[in-house]
Amino acid sequence: MAYKSINFRNLPFGFCHFLLTILNSRRIEKCVTITYFFNKAPHTMPDPIERAADIIASAKRAVALTGAGISVASGIPPFRGKGGLWEKIDPMKVAHIDAFLDDPETVWNVLIKEMKTVLDKARPNPGHTGLADLERLGILGTVITQNVDGLHQKAGNSDVIEFHGSFAWQRCLDCNRRIETSRVDLAQIPPHCRCGGILRPDCVFFGEMIPPEALDRSQHMSATCEVMMVIGTSAMVQPAAGMPFIAKDNGAFIIEINPEPTPLTSRISNLPLLGGAESIMPRLLQAVRQRLASP
Ligand code: NAD
Ligand code: ZN
Repeated sequence: MAYKSINFRNLPFGFCHFLLTILNSRRIEKCVTITYFFNKAPHTMPDPIERAADIIASAKRAVALTGAGISVASGIPPFRGKGGLWEKIDPMKVAHIDAFLDDPETVWNVLIKEMKTVLDKARPNPGHTGLADLERLGILGTVITQNVDGLHQKAGNSDVIEFHGSFAWQRCLDCNRRIETSRVDLAQIPPHCRCGGILRPDCVFFGEMIPPEALDRSQHMSATCEVMMVIGTSAMVQPAAGMPFIAKDNGAFIIEINPEPTPLTSRISNLPLLGGAESIMPRLLQAVRQRLASP
């Protein structure tokens, strides 16, 4: 959905209304209406980032649930959404465990080698470092991430639940031995363990179970947090997408950061912040710091 940014602030109300009726009747973006709403009443509608900062600055038990979107600014393409990998390849052909077991060579060539090249170069962006800063400020406890890129740990978060495992490690299909991805010899594809078994990334493929301890702890942290920040996830992959519902059912305030609406936005998000994590997080953090500095 294209986002139309039109500033109506200086136009007379009647004209704005007329214009919006035309735009909406021509089925041009509901977002126009939202932009109008915020611009028309700048003094009565609090800035959503300022509102989010109020909530976050007074929180003691905040949890973040992150997805591929938070790493887009680090050069890692997401699966879904604009520029997503699924525009080019069929997930069931490459990211399903059956596909891997049927033809590990193809999955290594089409997906895993490419992922390694991209992840080797990736560095944390202000979305990741903002979450690490929120931990240092004593606000954010756990990050539940669906990502396998290790960027939250690199940014400095100390309690990261890797819901879908980690690309930093490979595991042998035969003896289960783990080996660091950086030490895997890619001269032969698929690479092999010293026992002769084929290596696979220690990530959760479609069709596989979530590691039970990651699932249990994520459910617990979701049920006991007072604020959940849901950042860069399309909320389409279960059971990760269920965590915000657990949080909401237990009274948490849901803040969502994403440039596009998701299935959560209209259903349970208390405060959707439309935009990239790398641009929203620094602004949010600055507003939180201002509140902490002035008691
Ligand atoms: P997804 O690919 O389904 O959705 C990405 C979401 O991020 C979309 O809603 C999109 O609008 C949003 N987005 C795009 N740019 C953004 C930005 N700059 N800031 C914030 N949000 C942005 O991602 P998902 O929900 O995490 O599910 C896909 C699965 O793919 C996950 O299980 C994950 O394990 C895996 N994956 C991981 C990585 C990674 O480790 N970096 C990358 C791709 C996919
Ligand atoms: Zn082995």
